[in-house]
Amino acid sequence: MHGFFDTPIEFLKGVGPQKAALFNKELKIFTYGDLIQYYPYRYEDRTRFYAVRDIDASMPYIQLKGKIRHMETVGPPRKRRLVVYFKDDTGEIELVWFKGVDWVMKKLQPGVEYVVFGRPSAFGRKINMAHPEIEVLTNFNIQGGYLQPVYSTTELLKRKYLDSKAIGKLMKTLSDMAKPKVSETLPSTVLDDYRLVGKEEAIRQIHFPEDNDALQKARFRLKFEELFYVQLRLLKLKIARMDKFRGMVFDKADLLSKFYNHHLPFELTNAQKRVIKEIYRDMRSAKQMNRLLQGDVGSGKTIVGFICMLLAVDAGTQAALMAPTEILAIQHYHGLKEHADKMGLRIALLTGSTKTSERKIIHQYLKSGELHILVGTHALIEEKVQFQILGLALIDEQHRFGVAQRSKLWQKNKEVYPHVLVMTATPIPRTLAMTLYGDLDVSTIDELPAGRKPIQTVHRYDSNRLKVNGFIKEQVDLGRQVYVVYPLIEESEKLDLKHLEDGYESICRAFPGLPVSIVHGKMKSEAKDFEMNRFAKGETKIMVATTVIEVGVNVPNATVMVIENAERFGLAQLHQLRGRVGRGADQSYCILMTSFKLSKEGKVRIETMVRTNNGFEIADTDLKLRGPGDLTGTQQSGVLDLLIADLGKDGNILQEARIAAQAILAKDPDLSLPENFNVKKQVEAQKKTVVNWSRIS
Ligand code: ADP
Ligand code: MG
Repeated sequence: MHGFFDTPIEFLKGVGPQKAALFNKELKIFTYGDLIQYYPYRYEDRTRFYAVRDIDASMPYIQLKGKIRHMETVGPPRKRRLVVYFKDDTGEIELVWFKGVDWVMKKLQPGVEYVVFGRPSAFGRKINMAHPEIEVLTNFNIQGGYLQPVYSTTELLKRKYLDSKAIGKLMKTLSDMAKPKVSETLPSTVLDDYRLVGKEEAIRQIHFPEDNDALQKARFRLKFEELFYVQLRLLKLKIARMDKFRGMVFDKADLLSKFYNHHLPFELTNAQKRVIKEIYRDMRSAKQMNRLLQGDVGSGKTIVGFICMLLAVDAGTQAALMAPTEILAIQHYHGLKEHADKMGLRIALLTGSTKTSERKIIHQYLKSGELHILVGTHALIEEKVQFQILGLALIDEQHRFGVAQRSKLWQKNKEVYPHVLVMTATPIPRTLAMTLYGDLDVSTIDELPAGRKPIQTVHRYDSNRLKVNGFIKEQVDLGRQVYVVYPLIEESEKLDLKHLEDGYESICRAFPGLPVSIVHGKMKSEAKDFEMNRFAKGETKIMVATTVIEVGVNVPNATVMVIENAERFGLAQLHQLRGRVGRGADQSYCILMTSFKLSKEGKVRIETMVRTNNGFEIADTDLKLRGPGDLTGTQQSGVLDLLIADLGKDGNILQEARIAAQAILAKDPDLSLPENFNVKKQVEAQKKTVVNWSRIS
């Protein structure tokens, strides 16, 4: 069907082929439909005029009305600037131009009444405005009374005269034409229940709001709609899969009993017991399991994973665990091997550095079914790796894997998909989990093993290093071990490595005779493993490292985590790093080192870390600070390409939208009722544009 909104943008009055090409390239706007959904990212408040007397530097863009008393250029010829003394009845403010001085000067005349729009800033003790907009007062702008939409553009577009104002003009043309063409996309019951304004009204008000109230209603409506359809899609997917994919039935629990009765190394927490029950219920249900297991660092997900493996093996199938890094895979392998050996199960490790000869044997035993458990990195999903029958695919630290990688693992079986359990240590904020994994069932371990003392976190400035070293010494004397972590990012790799090495040397100098390890990503993996092992065995007391130790590493005797340049780490990463300590019964500490210079966001991150150990709270703050794109990596950004909703802020709307979608599907799973005609139509329309949704497992 070719409708009005599919019309190429080129045909809009004022666009034409050249501008259309720019729209395509720069903003991915191809059709009328794309343009009308190109919402303003902010609005300039032209609803009122401020008095000069009331201005302070913390204000956003504001509007003034007044006259020019005097203007002059100051400074040396090459750095000439224009200063305009602008006054109203209450006071005077300086307007400053550094560029286009002559042009602006020609335009302005003392004595004429102007409207000025700009952002005040403090300049010494005075307040001024640099490069404000200034227009002669006319009948049109005299009342104020409107919110002016601001559209984001690019440098290239601006150079071709497609600035925010120009886009606004095109939008006006389009929205006038579109008015009779916009049809409602939500059922009237939903509109009524959630008091949403109609689609046409929302579209009009989002671009050209009458007032703030109308704008807020429009935004709410459009966000609701967007999130509603995201949720509807995920929920439909879930329903479809439940119907379609049968699952292997794992109902034998002999190995499980044997493990519980003889080999369980500690009492499971109630949370662990609960999630095992949830998982077990799935595995015997004859439906394929797709479950997310989340739990804070140290909450004991590994043993839960192992117990699930026992169920799979008991049913005559195999289990695989995929980890994002080699170090983590190795550690999982050693941890699981200890249990597996006691249970008489065969387990192997497969990573990129597994030798060819060894690899061959693994392939063979895997195919013949003699190997029960395979642990590894993404090497597991290679074509050559063939199971006799894969019953359970466990994926650790899942957000690091792309969606495609995950689905490859569950396609290892031709006939029946394996059960899939995705484990994540980075707690995902509820809102994000609902969107990313809205079609997965979620189990949460919300309790740490007994006897853990909460990690004490402090913030110290670099100038306090001597004291910090003194503290490290105390801990080492008590027999504990210490991590000292440095940031390392690609962009500044050389310098970062140098900092790391300098840090290592100064630690060695500060603790003469004490064995110290150093580990970073640039080392050969044997050398890395060698050092990690020395530290794990307690042969070295201090580990100076980059974030290679971020995930999974488990050395219960390590009680101090010193993070250098802590302001350079993201919150999720800081929390992960901190999770490397506090794994034993001793009191653990995390020391965040920074210089005195901290950005506002950096400060919030550090304060958050000091305030709480709760991963969910941290994840929420992180989402608010960074936005969801960063949090999940680019692989999944497609899922999060939201036009207007913001997962960091719109959690409540998301919740309501999900409930609304659930209610509709519960009553009408095929959307065949007349009252859901709008929904069905919209879903069909979106099918054309939304790619790859079905691949998100
Ligand atoms: P994570 O959830 O971060 O993967 P792990 O599975 O690595 O956590 O467990 C962290 C540590 O806690 C390990 O040393 C593990 O043996 C231990 N552990 C797990 N569950 C319990 C429990 N119920 N009681 C005591 N210690 C536990
Ligand atoms: Mg883990």
